[in-house]
Amino acid sequence: MDEGTQRAALETALESVAARIEAEKGHLTELDSAIGDADHGANLNRGFQAALEDANGEGDPGEFVKGVGMALVASVGGASGPLYGGSLVHASTEFEDGIDRAASVAFAESYLEKVKDRGKANVGDKTMVDAITPAVHTYKHAIEEEELSALAALTRAVDAAERGVRFTTVIRANKGRASYLGWRSVGHPDPGATSTLYILEALHETAAAYLDGTDEPLAEDAE
Ligand code: ADP
Ligand code: MG
Repeated sequence: MDEGTQRAALETALESVAARIEAEKGHLTELDSAIGDADHGANLNRGFQAALEDANGEGDPGEFVKGVGMALVASVGGASGPLYGGSLVHASTEFEDGIDRAASVAFAESYLEKVKDRGKANVGDKTMVDAITPAVHTYKHAIEEEELSALAALTRAVDAAERGVRFTTVIRANKGRASYLGWRSVGHPDPGATSTLYILEALHETAAAYLDGTDEPLAEDAE
C-alpha cells in the first residue's frame, strides 16, 4: 500500500471512529453514569470531533496519528484523555516509516504499554486495559504465529476485545472513579473498555474497505 493510500486509509479510519463514537455517545455516557460521572461519551466525542477538525493532509502516517493523539490530549479531559491521547502520541512513532503488518503489531504493543504505564492498571482492574490487552495479544499472535492477514488478525482482535468487555462486567473496579463503588461496580461493563471495542470495530470496518483477505501489499512490506 503506497503512502497516499495509507493516508487516505488513516483519514477514513478517523472519520469512521469519530462517527461511531458520536453514535454511541449517549450509550457510553449511560455506562459511565452507572459506575462513574456520566461524561465518558461526551469526553470522547469532543476529542474525536476536535481531531477531525485538526486533521490536515500533511505528514507521514506517524505524524497523522500523533496529531489525533494530541487533539485527544487537549480536548478529552478526565482519566481517559491522557490515556487514549498520550498513548496514541507515544505509539505513533511506529508509523514513521509507513504502515505494514510488523509496524501495526509494534504500534499496538507500544499503545498498550503506554496505557498501562500511565494508568498503572492491569488486567482485572475493570478498565480499558481489559479490552486492549486481549486485543493486542490476539492481534500479535494472529500476525506473528498464525501468519494471518492484517484484516483477519483485526477480526480476531475485535472478538478478543468484546470478550474483554464482557469480563469487565462481572468484576470489581480497582482503578478510576468506578473503584469508589467497590463491589457495587460489579454487573456493569466498563465504559472505557466499551469505547475501546467501538474504536476497534470502526478500525476493522475501515480495514475491510482497504484490504482484502490476503492484504498482499501489507504482507509484502512486512517481510
Ligand atoms: P473520568 O473517569 O475521569 O470521568 P472518563 O469517564 O472519560 O474519565 O473515562 C473513564 C474510563 O477511563 C474508565 O471506564 C476506564 O476504562 C478508564 N480508566 C480510568 N482510570 C484508568 C486507569 N488508571 N488505567 C486505565 N484506564 C483507566
Ligand atoms: Mg467519567
